[in-house]
Amino acid sequence: MSRKSKVESRKQTIVGRFAPSPTGEMHLGNVLAALLSWLSAKQQGGLWRLRIEDLDPQRSRREYAEQLMRDLEWLGLPWDGEVVWQSERTEVYEQYLNQLASIREIRGIRTDSLIYPCTCTRNEILAAQAPHESDGRIVYPGTCRPNRLSTFDFRLSTKKAATRLMVPDEQIEYTDRVYGLQTVNLATHCGDFIVRRSDGVFAYQLAVVVDDALMGVTEIVRGRDLLLSAAQQIYLYRLLGFPVPQFCHHPLLINEAGQRLCKRDQSLAVSAMRQHITAPEIIGLLAYTIGLTPTREVLTPEQILPLFTWSKIGQQDLCCSL
Ligand code: GLU
Ligand code: ZN
Repeated sequence: MSRKSKVESRKQTIVGRFAPSPTGEMHLGNVLAALLSWLSAKQQGGLWRLRIEDLDPQRSRREYAEQLMRDLEWLGLPWDGEVVWQSERTEVYEQYLNQLASIREIRGIRTDSLIYPCTCTRNEILAAQAPHESDGRIVYPGTCRPNRLSTFDFRLSTKKAATRLMVPDEQIEYTDRVYGLQTVNLATHCGDFIVRRSDGVFAYQLAVVVDDALMGVTEIVRGRDLLLSAAQQIYLYRLLGFPVPQFCHHPLLINEAGQRLCKRDQSLAVSAMRQHITAPEIIGLLAYTIGLTPTREVLTPEQILPLFTWSKIGQQDLCCSL
């Protein structure tokens, strides 16, 4: 390789990542997210990084994180570089929260600060909810949003308050690798959203953007349950001046009853499956279920690499039984 093309290829390094929350044992659905992001990054000669999303001290457990790392090694999904632990990065998030606080103007909004304290309870927000929001989403009605002339300084607030970020009334557009063009208006999708909880814990949306950006992540592969969260994240990428990565959401695994697999399905925890099934059997089953192989085979992630292409990944959720 010539010197010039070496420099060019370094500039374009693909970085994928797996960002599990250690709130339970790793199950098949998590393995699918890990496998697809690993395949996509590795096939392009990229790096694959691991970040433990242990922001919430109440729900995260160190044992789950350690088990998860052992499971990834056992599955044949090695990560590159140091593991990033969100619980150790509070100061970094604080710094970017301050950056948001200093923004005074975005399209349609002029303010003293783009973030503000909110003391609403969940019930108060639900009571103010427009009746058409029947899909379980909560749209914050802006009750605590200060008006432009307000001199309130959230940093002087002594009341225990969550911190919200103002969102403009405009469409955010992005093209997901699997689900295509998405158009989301944050004002009607979620309203001003929380960037730090009232107990001081930074919100997922802020932490995930700051970390992915600082880790140099260029593509985000994860389950389609987070497809619309990407809109909030793109808004944050733009406000903080970071380049927006490629989003690739994948269909979810469901059981025979049509419910998505979750951490409560103990039988599908990797640690339980390890007792009676080999890693290449699990990987082969997932590759078959997601459409990468025509038949169920026994394969390592390395062996699936040449078979992987996003065009084989459909949008329908998939039933997966052992
Ligand atoms: N930590 C999240 C989860 O385990 C995933 C976040 C992401 O991939 O952006 O569901
Ligand atoms: Zn409020």
